[in-house]
Amino acid sequence: MTRGTVAFVMCSTRSGSTWLALMLGSNSRAQYLGELNRMFRDDAEACSLCTERGQWCPVFHNMDKVRPRDVHQVLLERTERQVIVDNSKSLTWARKSLDRPFDKRFIHLLRDPRAVVYSWQRRGRTKGIEQWIEENYAIRQFLTDAGLDYRVVTYNELADHTDETMERLCSWLGLAYEQRQMVYWEFEHHGAGRNGATASFLRDYVASDEAYYAEHRRQAFHDKRWQSELETDVKEAILRSPRLQQFLDDFRITLTPDGLEPKLRSASPG
Ligand SMILES: [Zn+2]
Repeated sequence: MTRGTVAFVMCSTRSGSTWLALMLGSNSRAQYLGELNRMFRDDAEACSLCTERGQWCPVFHNMDKVRPRDVHQVLLERTERQVIVDNSKSLTWARKSLDRPFDKRFIHLLRDPRAVVYSWQRRGRTKGIEQWIEENYAIRQFLTDAGLDYRVVTYNELADHTDETMERLCSWLGLAYEQRQMVYWEFEHHGAGRNGATASFLRDYVASDEAYYAEHRRQAFHDKRWQSELETDVKEAILRSPRLQQFLDDFRITLTPDGLEPKLRSASPG
């Protein structure tokens, strides 16, 4: 029987998954993997940190010789960590590992759809509230249909009650929460992609978001730019979505002016 746990972060894009994965992966017994599926695409990416430094990656070497369904097992053995954290977010990717023998845990992260749509718009995406609802119902259906062990957590719980929320998630993953996990930028993280915080170890900040994260990375922060910058008619259209209230009821969350909050402050899917 394989020892070790793979924690999969599941959510819509732009929901804070990299931030959560970095904090989890900063535990001394855990390892951040980033968006692992990017290393297995046709245009496979390598570890961005080691590529930038021109060095051999101690975590992600020889990935081309590993089959996707075997990669978590290889990384558990290679890193000798108790928990490895995969924020690929892809249902197709997660399905590849369902029959593997290691312990699998899933964290479904929900962020206010107004914040997510705002972030999508900034990247020129045309997706809106209906796609957000669809994506999150699809995640929920995947988790429940397969009888998987999962927790739902909101971005606001993480941002506003970081210690308490991380402690609860870590405990569920079999880890003792360490306060240094919050200062994830003090640790090196290997992985594909350059998503704001991970770029803190790299040289050139170019995108505006990276500058924003660079400015804020030394303190816990709650990104509320959408409140002042998302157009009023877009905000109102989101709130008028006919499926939104049912969605909130199904997830036992409420939409407050500041974002999504659990009805009862608990990470349990109930
Ligand atoms: Zn590396």
